[in-house]
Amino acid sequence: MSTTPRQLFVTTALPYANGNFHIGHIMEYIQADIWVRFQRMQGNAVKFVGADDTHGAPIMIAAEKAGKTPQQFVADIAAGRKQYLDGFHISFDNWHSTDAPENHELARQIYRDLRDRADGSLIETKTIEQFFDPEKNMFLPDRYIKGECPKCHTKDQYGDNCENCGAVYAPTDLINPVSTLSGAKPELKNSEHFFFKLSDPRCVEFLERWTQDGKLQPEVANKVKEWFSVRTNPDGSTSEGLGDWDISRDAPYFGIEIPDAPGKYFYVWLDAPIGYLASLKNLLEKRGENYDAYMANPAVEQYHFIGKDIVTFHTLFFPACLHFSGRKTPTNVFVHGFLTVNNGEKMSKSRGTGLDPLKYLSLGMNPEWLRYYLAAKLSARNEDIDFNADDFMARVNSDLVGKYINIASRAAGFIAKKFDHKLGVITDDGQQLLKLISAQKDSMLELYESRDFGKVLRETMLLADKVNVYVDANKPWELAKKEGMDPRLHDVCTVCIEAFRLLTLYLKPVLPKLATGVETFLRSKPFTTKDAATQLGAGHEIGDYVHLMQRVDVKQLDALFYMPNESIDGIDTAKTAIKSVAKQVSSPKPATATETITIDDFVKVDLRIAKILNCEVVEGSTKLLRLTLDVGEVDEAGQAKTRNVFSGIASSYKPADLIGKHTVMVANLAPRKMKFGMSEGMVLAASSADEKDQPGIYILEPVPGAQPGMRVS
Ligand SMILES: [Zn+2]
Repeated sequence: MSTTPRQLFVTTALPYANGNFHIGHIMEYIQADIWVRFQRMQGNAVKFVGADDTHGAPIMIAAEKAGKTPQQFVADIAAGRKQYLDGFHISFDNWHSTDAPENHELARQIYRDLRDRADGSLIETKTIEQFFDPEKNMFLPDRYIKGECPKCHTKDQYGDNCENCGAVYAPTDLINPVSTLSGAKPELKNSEHFFFKLSDPRCVEFLERWTQDGKLQPEVANKVKEWFSVRTNPDGSTSEGLGDWDISRDAPYFGIEIPDAPGKYFYVWLDAPIGYLASLKNLLEKRGENYDAYMANPAVEQYHFIGKDIVTFHTLFFPACLHFSGRKTPTNVFVHGFLTVNNGEKMSKSRGTGLDPLKYLSLGMNPEWLRYYLAAKLSARNEDIDFNADDFMARVNSDLVGKYINIASRAAGFIAKKFDHKLGVITDDGQQLLKLISAQKDSMLELYESRDFGKVLRETMLLADKVNVYVDANKPWELAKKEGMDPRLHDVCTVCIEAFRLLTLYLKPVLPKLATGVETFLRSKPFTTKDAATQLGAGHEIGDYVHLMQRVDVKQLDALFYMPNESIDGIDTAKTAIKSVAKQVSSPKPATATETITIDDFVKVDLRIAKILNCEVVEGSTKLLRLTLDVGEVDEAGQAKTRNVFSGIASSYKPADLIGKHTVMVANLAPRKMKFGMSEGMVLAASSADEKDQPGIYILEPVPGAQPGMRVS
C-alpha cells in the first residue's frame, strides 16, 4: 500500500433548497461520511463538501408565496441544515450555496470556455416557441402548464405528459392550456435559448469513453450506454441518442445570468453541480489555500456520491462541461438507490410522514443506531434499500449492543476492580484470537474502499461472535469466584479489551462518536487503521467503563412512526413523546396555488376508499399500471363488483407493492375508453411540481381501519 496520503475531493449531491432534509438525504450523507471517515483514518487528506442547490423556478415561486426574496428564502432553509448534519455526525468540511459568488463566477467562466473553444464552440442558440404567462409575465416551465391531453382528452394534465394514457408531448400540444401559476391562458412566444451541443461528435466520443471505461458501477454504465443509441422505446416513441441540452431560461428566473446575454439565465441544472467546485473553492480560500493549484494537481481524486435519479446530469452533462472547458473530470460517481421505509413505501417529503430525521433525533434516538443500520444495508451497488423497524431494532439490540458492546461491559469491571485498571499478559489462545481479528485488517480496508459497508459489518459481527465464544468458554464470572484463577481472569479480560479495541477500530467510520468514547475509556490516542497491528499491551491502564450504548426501546420506534392524525390504540406514550416534535416537522408547501372553490364544488367529487385487489403491468405502456379496485360496490345480482382503473404510476411502483393496499379514488369520474381498455375512475396520487424536486408519484393511502366504499370528505 502506498505511503503517500491520497488527496480526495468528495461531495454529496446538493439538496434542493425548497425544503428540509428527508431521510433519503441523510442516508446519502451517512454513506459518504462513512467513506470519508475511513479515508481520514487511513491518513488520506479529504476535502468533503456540500452546498444548497438554490436556483430555479420552483424556489423563485415558493419564495414569492412565502413573501420573501429568493435569497432570504434559501438563507432560511440553509439555517436549518446544521441541526441535521451535526445530529447525524456528518463531517462536512464546508457547506455552501450555489448562489454564492464563487459559483456565479465559476459557472460563467465554464460557459465562456465552452463557448469560446478554439476548435469550434459547443454553445449554440436556437429560437424555440414556448408558453408565456401574460399575467405573471414569465415563460412557463412544462410542469406549470396544464390542459387536456391531445391523445385521450383527459383534462388537467401536465405540459409534458399525460398521467392517464402515458402520452408524451410538448406543452404546445395541450388542448385549452392554462398556467397553473395564474390560471391565465398562456400565449405562445418565441424565445432564444442557449444549448450545450451534447450531440456534437466531440462530446459523444468523449462521453462514450468516459462512461464506459470501467469506472462506473456496471449497472450504471449499462444504463448510461442506452442513452447513446438510437432506438425504439417500449411505448413506441424513439430515442435519438444524445440530444443538445437547453441550458438557458428567460427572466424572471432565480439563477445566474448568462454572460453577454442580458435577461437569460442558466438553467439550474447547469450551475448546480458546479456548486461542488464553488464549495471547495470557498473552503480552500477560507483556509488560505489556492483553488486553482489544488485542482491542477493531477493526484487529486474527485468523487461524487449521488442518487440514481440524477445519473444523467452527473455522467453526461457535468463531465462534458468540465472536460470541454479544460477542467478535471470526476474520478468517479458513486450511485446509490432509494431508501424505502417499512416494506417499500417510498419516502417523500411531500407526504410529511415516514421516517423524519429531526423527529428521530428529538425522540432521543441514537444517531449511530441509524448510521449502523444503514451501513449494514449499504453495498457498492446501485440498489434500493429498505428501513424496516423490526429489523432495525434486531440489528442494533442483538448485534451492535448484544454482540459487540457486551464484550467490553463483561470484562471492564474485573480489570478495574481486581487489577487496578491495568491490562495483563495475554497467553497463547488469546493471542491467536487477537491475531485472527487483526489479520482481517486488509480485507476490511478493501471493503470500506469499495463502499461495501454491509459486508464490513457482517465480517465484524462474525469476529465479535468468535470473541463471545472465547468469553463463554472461559467464563470470567466463574474464574473470578475461584481460588488462584486471577492470572487467568486477568488474561481473559485483557483479551476482551484488546479484541474490543480492534472491533471498534473496524467500526469507527460508522460509529465515530462511540469510537471516541471507547478511546477515552481505553485511554488511547485516536485509532487509525495502522493501529490494527498493535496492542495496548500489558500494564496499560484503562479508565472506568461507562455505558457506551443503550438498546433501542420499542416505544421509541412506535413514536417515530406514529402520525398525529392516526388513531391507533395503545400508544399513548408515543403521543406524549411526539408533542415536542410536532412543531419542528414543517409541513410541505403546496406545489402550486389554485383558485378557491366552494364546498358545493367539492362535494361533486365522489371520493371513496378503494382496496387494490390486483395490480398488473400494462403491456405496451411504460407509465401505466392496471388496478382492480374494490370500492364496496355490488351489481344488480348482488355480486361484488370491481372497477378497472389505469394509473400512470408505473415509474414509482411495482404491482406487488400495491396489491392489498387501500387508496382513495374518484368514483364518479366519467369512464374513459383508453388504448388499453376502459378506465373507470382515477386513484389519487401526489407528485412534485418539478423534476428538480423529489421525483416520483405517490399514491394516497388511508390510515388503517378505512374500509372499501367509505366516502372521503
Ligand atoms: Zn392522455
